[in-house]
Amino acid sequence: MGSSKLLKAAKSLYATSLDWLFPPRCAGCGKLGEVWCHACRSHVELIREPFCDLCGSPTVQGNHCLNCASWEYNFDAARAWGRYSGVLRKAILSFKRRHNTQLGSELAKSMAEVLAQQSWEVNVLAPVPLAPHRLAQRGYNQADLLAQPLATECGLRYAGSILFRRHETIKQFELGAAQRWENLLGAFQAQGAELHNANVLLVDDIMTTSATLNAAAIVLKKAGARRVYAVTLAKTILEAEQGV
Ligand SMILES: [Zn+2]
Ligand SMILES: [Zn+2]
Repeated sequence: MGSSKLLKAAKSLYATSLDWLFPPRCAGCGKLGEVWCHACRSHVELIREPFCDLCGSPTVQGNHCLNCASWEYNFDAARAWGRYSGVLRKAILSFKRRHNTQLGSELAKSMAEVLAQQSWEVNVLAPVPLAPHRLAQRGYNQADLLAQPLATECGLRYAGSILFRRHETIKQFELGAAQRWENLLGAFQAQGAELHNANVLLVDDIMTTSATLNAAAIVLKKAGARRVYAVTLAKTILEAEQGV
């Protein structure tokens, strides 16, 4: 047996014994047996058409939401799998407590389904970086738990270091919508030869406002990217956004 095969066997034995000691629990309902059960997956409120061409918010009819009628974005399009509510919200919150790569792999499969429905030509995939103080607190970026398996699932080049947060920003939730945009401009920095003429796919767990994606898209395009797309697992939907 070669050393890589031995390592693989040891890893699988280790994972099996961990499962025996700490059997996986569903991140949505807590049921023992798997990290994300079939029932929870089927209870996610999926974002289906009609939705806004740009930001992916559901619309009553038509292809632009009220927000996108009044803002000009620097990203080309964004889509989310489901609403940030119920079991999906629970699963995402569990990411923030535990570095659960198995859950990331399961949820990334649903993001891959969303991507398969788009006609985007993507060259590189990057997680949206966390603010440095958050990264220091948590020790990992939960967006990365989705971005890495998604890159593998879709056969895309993973570029974890092309985008980073330059300095601490004031906590976004303390600010109003207009101030969020101001606060985030200048928070990101992008670099890397692979950005030249590239179409970048940003990956995040939740899209709350378009401000983060927009600020990231500005620096990515300044650094040479041609197009910037984004896919998130969930999206918060305000009823007021659902334009006609
Ligand atoms: Zn469940
Ligand atoms: Zn929109």
